[in-house]
Amino acid sequence: MPFVFFETFGCQMNVADSDMLAQALFSLGYSIIEESEHADLIVVNTCSVREHAEVRALARIHELCVRKKKHALAQEIWVIGCMAQRMGNSIIEKNPGVNQVIGAKDIVSFVQDLVHGPQGKTALPAPDVKPGRISALLPIMRGCNNFCSYCIVPSVRGGETSIPCSRIVEDILRRIDKGTREVTLLGQNVNSYHDGDTDFSDLLAKIHELPGLLRIRFTTSHPRDCTDKLIQTMARLPKICKHVHLPVQSGSTRILEAMNRGYNRETYLQRVNAIRHAMPDVDITTDAMVGFPTETDRDFQDTLSLFAQARFTTAFMFAYSQREQTRAADMGDDVPVEVKKARLATLIDLQMSVTKERYAAMIGRNIEVLFVEQKRGSEATWMGQDIGCKRTLLACNENIAGTILPVRVIRSSGMTLTLERT
Ligand code: SF4
Repeated sequence: MPFVFFETFGCQMNVADSDMLAQALFSLGYSIIEESEHADLIVVNTCSVREHAEVRALARIHELCVRKKKHALAQEIWVIGCMAQRMGNSIIEKNPGVNQVIGAKDIVSFVQDLVHGPQGKTALPAPDVKPGRISALLPIMRGCNNFCSYCIVPSVRGGETSIPCSRIVEDILRRIDKGTREVTLLGQNVNSYHDGDTDFSDLLAKIHELPGLLRIRFTTSHPRDCTDKLIQTMARLPKICKHVHLPVQSGSTRILEAMNRGYNRETYLQRVNAIRHAMPDVDITTDAMVGFPTETDRDFQDTLSLFAQARFTTAFMFAYSQREQTRAADMGDDVPVEVKKARLATLIDLQMSVTKERYAAMIGRNIEVLFVEQKRGSEATWMGQDIGCKRTLLACNENIAGTILPVRVIRSSGMTLTLERT
């Protein structure tokens, strides 16, 4: 039985792609192994969202190739994902130990060929290889049509394609059969999902009716497509988690225009208020960058004041990283590194204080949590999330995988809530 080792960089979409390939290899007799040295096949799934992500992946690929050569290891090394799409076979020219480069745009057809052979282009392999995964990631669409000026995704993942609703429902039913109780629907911009007349809110309502499913999550949303219909659907349907990941990127309307985000500061805050009006306890999280070309102190103050007003539960914050093949690459990169670093530190400080307040405000509250898995190295500690996106821990000696339990919050540390049974 051959062994395969996966190293996945980047977003949940990459995690889902690695999972899809793992399932295909599993159906061909491979076994997943947790360390790379004894693997017959190593798959490195790469990210291109920032330069740093590529530097890390290239260093790792080089390391694996040097070891393969030094010890004459009979290993295959495959490089997949967004950097593979962007750099192509130049990766093999730099690292002859790499055997295959498969871009993010080609991974679906590659997996279909792998399982069914070039002639057998049918649905992807049924996810029946790893029973008992309580929480599963499920891509419902691929690619993006938004062309935000700083973003490389449209050029490495292509335009938007939505997976037919019937196939998504079939896939979820198969997973429920195998023990899945929560699904996270994935897409670069899930809100623009459509299959004929079925839009994203309709899809959510259909999935909500599936027996055996306890929780539904989705990411990533785009503020321009976060409609009142979607907000009402979330508020009305109890299995849909009350968490919206709504990247803002900047609080300055001038910068949002330069980013081609398709909304301004006011419309973004109006969406936040509409979501909170419909779901007062909702968790709203976001992405934001500092140091976008031409960003002034004034623009940055706008980002700070928006964060202070929106009071996100948590946020991913980073400094602008110029990417080739993006429109922003022609705008220069004029904000000095030390200014980017200082702004990022200020924004992180602000957000961390809000996150702490929001988590601390949960102490003493009775909530319901879906428990997913045991904490590594502590079998009697179970991990789960509340109906929002807050991570929780419960000491419990029973097997509570896949169950929703009423619990009370007794402590908050950073970004984790400690619970007790009620
Ligand atoms: S919405 Fe914008 S930032 Fe997000 S993947 Fe699409 S182009 Fe990139």
